[in-house]
Amino acid sequence: MILANAHLPDGTVADVEIAGGRIAALHPPGSADAPGERVDLAGALLFPAFVDGHIHLDKTHWGAPRLPHVEGHSVRERIAAERVERHRVALPVEERASALIGTLIANGTTRVRSHVDIDNDVGLANLEAVLGVREAFRDWIDIQLVAFPQSGVVTEKGARDLQGSALMAGADLVGGLDPAGFDNDVKGQLDIIFGLAEAFGKGIDIHLHDGGETGAAELRDIAERTIAAGLQGRVAVSHAFALGSIEPDLFAKTAEALARAQVAIMTSCPPAAPVPPVNALRERGVTVFAGSDNIRDCWSPFGNGDMLDRAAIIAERHQMFTDRELEDAFALIANEADKALGRPRREIRAGAAADLVAVEAASVADAVVDRPPRRLVVRAGRIAAERGVPSAALNGVAVA
Ligand SMILES: [Zn+2]
Repeated sequence: MILANAHLPDGTVADVEIAGGRIAALHPPGSADAPGERVDLAGALLFPAFVDGHIHLDKTHWGAPRLPHVEGHSVRERIAAERVERHRVALPVEERASALIGTLIANGTTRVRSHVDIDNDVGLANLEAVLGVREAFRDWIDIQLVAFPQSGVVTEKGARDLQGSALMAGADLVGGLDPAGFDNDVKGQLDIIFGLAEAFGKGIDIHLHDGGETGAAELRDIAERTIAAGLQGRVAVSHAFALGSIEPDLFAKTAEALARAQVAIMTSCPPAAPVPPVNALRERGVTVFAGSDNIRDCWSPFGNGDMLDRAAIIAERHQMFTDRELEDAFALIANEADKALGRPRREIRAGAAADLVAVEAASVADAVVDRPPRRLVVRAGRIAAERGVPSAALNGVAVA
C-alpha cells in the first residue's frame, strides 16, 4: 500500500510505502510507484495510532441502551451500585467490549490497557469474556489486561487466589485498589500485589484514589517496593490524585521516588479531581500517560473513546497552550503511553509498525486543538477504518 502525499509530524511531505504490516520506505511525494493499493492523503497529517492506557472493557455499556446513573460519588458507593447493576446490562460483556473496540479503532486507537474486574461476585467470567474478545481482535488492536480487584484485595476473601488464577488464564498485569482507603491495610494489599507480580513475573497497575499525605506515602512505598522487586519500568499507578493535593516539598520528594523507580502515572484527568500535575511530573523524569478510564458505565455516563479528546482535556486542564505543550499532551496518548505499557514506540520511519492515523490538520498541535475527524486508520498495514467507519474486515470480526 502507498499512502501518498502524507504530511508528517516533522513538517515534511512523503509517500509512505507499507509492506508486511510495516512502513517499508518513505519516498519523496509523487515518486512511489509500488504495486498495490494507493490512497492519496492530499496533505493530510499522518501520525502513529493512539494508545488508550486505561479503560474498562468489561464495565462499559457501549452498544447497549444507557442505564440511568445510580447516585453516589464515593468509591465504595460506586462499587455497591455496580455489584447490582453489572447484572442488569442488556448485552453480554463480549458484545459491549466489541462495540467499544470498534469505536476505539475508528477513533484511531490500536493499543489499549484494560482493567478487568476480578472479585467473588463475577469470578473470572468477565476476564474470560474479554480474553475471547482480545483473541478475536488480535489483528486489529493490542490489548493488555490487568487483573483488577474491584472489591478489594485484603477485605475480599480469596482475592489473591482469584488474581493468581486470572494471571494463569492470560491477564498481563496485577491490579490493585486504594490499599489505605479501601482495604485499610497498605502493607497487606501491597504484600499480596507485589508477591503475585514476583511469583508470576508480571507488571503492576494500581488504582490509587487515596489523596493527600496518605496517598503520597503509598506512592513512595510502591516506588520502594518496585526497586526491591526489580520491577523498574513495569509498575504504573492510575489516578494518583494525591500528587495533585500535596505541598511542594512532599510532591518533590514523592515525584523523585517515582522517577527513580520508573513508576509511571496514568491520568484520565477527571474534571473534579485533584489530578496529578503533568508538567511538574515530567520535568522530574516521571513517565505520564493517558487513558479514558470509564466509558459509559456504572462509574460515569460520559466518555467517548477518543484519545485526541483526552489529550485536549488534559492540555486544557493543565493550561498546556503553546504548540510545544500541546505536543507534550499528545505524547501522553502516543510515545509516553507506549513506554508506560512496555511496548515499542511507534514512529513514522522505515521499519516501524504501520499503525497510523490520518487527519485534516496542519500540525500535531492543531490536531489536539481541533480534534478533527479521523480520515483513515491503518493497523499493521491494513485499513481499519475510513472517515470514522470501521472497515468491512474489522466489522466482520466474530467473537466466539
Ligand atoms: Zn479505572
